[in-house]
Amino acid sequence: MSTYPMVFLVGAGPGDPGLLTLAGKDAITSCRVIIYDALANPELLRHAPPSAELIYVGKQANRHTLTQDEINELLVTKWQQQAAFAKVHSPWGNIVRLKGGDPYVFGRGGEEGQYLFAHKVPFQVIPGITSGIAGPAYAGIPVTHRDFTSSVTLITGHQQDSNVAVGLNFDALAKLNGTLVFYMGVKTLPTLATKLIAAGMDGQTPAAIIHRATHPNQKTYRAHLKQLCSADFCAQIAPPAITILGQVAGLSEELNWFEQRPLFGKTVLVTRTRQQAGELSRRLIELGAMVIEAPTIELAPPSDSAAVIQAIGRLSHADMAIFTSVNGVHAAWDYLMQAGRDARALPQRVVAVGPSTAAALRQIGIIADLMPEEFTSDKLSQAIQSHLGDVTGLRVMLLRAQIARPALRTGLEQAGAQVEDVAMYQTRPPSALPAEALTALSEDRISLITFTSASTANNLFNLLPPDLREKVRHLPKLSIGPVTTQALASLGWDAQLTEAAEHDIPGMIAALDRQNQVQE
Ligand code: SAH
Repeated sequence: MSTYPMVFLVGAGPGDPGLLTLAGKDAITSCRVIIYDALANPELLRHAPPSAELIYVGKQANRHTLTQDEINELLVTKWQQQAAFAKVHSPWGNIVRLKGGDPYVFGRGGEEGQYLFAHKVPFQVIPGITSGIAGPAYAGIPVTHRDFTSSVTLITGHQQDSNVAVGLNFDALAKLNGTLVFYMGVKTLPTLATKLIAAGMDGQTPAAIIHRATHPNQKTYRAHLKQLCSADFCAQIAPPAITILGQVAGLSEELNWFEQRPLFGKTVLVTRTRQQAGELSRRLIELGAMVIEAPTIELAPPSDSAAVIQAIGRLSHADMAIFTSVNGVHAAWDYLMQAGRDARALPQRVVAVGPSTAAALRQIGIIADLMPEEFTSDKLSQAIQSHLGDVTGLRVMLLRAQIARPALRTGLEQAGAQVEDVAMYQTRPPSALPAEALTALSEDRISLITFTSASTANNLFNLLPPDLREKVRHLPKLSIGPVTTQALASLGWDAQLTEAAEHDIPGMIAALDRQNQVQE
């Protein structure tokens, strides 16, 4: 049996995309086909190579849902295709079977492994964090605790023939005096609860049911075993949900860190460039928010790339380079790399406008000589002069966006510098907003919108139909700084507006923090 290609049965973890193992991520990063389920967070597909074939085999509305036999067959067929391809091309055409939680905990991973073995398909298993352990942890429930329980039992509430009585020994479960974790079967909870009580389990045993555990919209229902006998009570809980029974379920208030994060339950619309949404979104997610990204700006090469290539060639003859954005640094770096050059091609003096720009420069090994605190363009030339003294005759290169405000250039020229303004990149609005963002706005699910530049505000306005513009008008908004605030005001969007005191992403997060403290 050849070793490659290989099928990896990978546990995707319970939902939070951070709860994937490093081995799981490696397998996804290098595979050619991913076959994934409804419970595997589709965010994880981001790790896949762009060319990977993504096959969804979960339940789908209006379409035939693949049976387990069909999935087994699909695994083998895909492996055969990749094996044939591997003979001719590269041998690394692995297949990832991505399953929610752990593949071997009520995930039918065992059945798939057996089928693969029977068909002589080489496979490996990469365990995942199961929802029955991670879900409680995210709801403030440790599944074991020395004071309360010394055992955890993982149970499916849904047996193969849908008859919950089959296979479960309720007498034994009731006597365990430990933590019981039920997967699946929210609908069968009343039957389960009734049988457990009949078998002698105390109706007052604390219970917690966690819906969409570890997701930003996780919801925990707290109850006692007796309440679970009520079909009405259970009917309010939608799948997927994990049910915990036992004394530890009563601890949830003290340990409930996840649901107590400041932005938990809030949905934030992040308007940014496609390339740059990352940092702000990540911080918001850390604070508990559900983030919907609405790219309102696309980065594109400048209209005159040849001029940039020439300018980059002259860079080392300049006395000073000024970068006003992370994009400018990245673009300059790309052009330098293409020209086979490196950071030594930069002039002696380098100025970064704003801490994020300075951080981007540090990543290419440059510590900016000056990072003006105040970085609205008009104040910038003054800052440069007060720090660096006389600029008369200085050859300055401004490496920035194609459409940039002239104030910086004119300020420096008036002070006697020779300024070359190089358009490193241009920005343009995308053709449309993602459907997810439009739906969330129209369904009033957005709690806050972030704006990181005047163009994010203007482009969002232009991309929205009038009724949604009106909704935005009434929603809380967070602006990165005065120029952006000005743009919002011109659009009539200045109600419910907070402006960051420091005009960068950490400044925006600090503004949110301050606001939360005021609210508390
Ligand atoms: N292999 C998976 C379980 C698959 S069975 C694992 O290890 O987690 C499917 C059941 O898992 C669901 O019915 C539900 O009970 C549970 N489940 C999976 N993900 C969940 C989540 N994010 N929140 C709550 N329950 C979840």
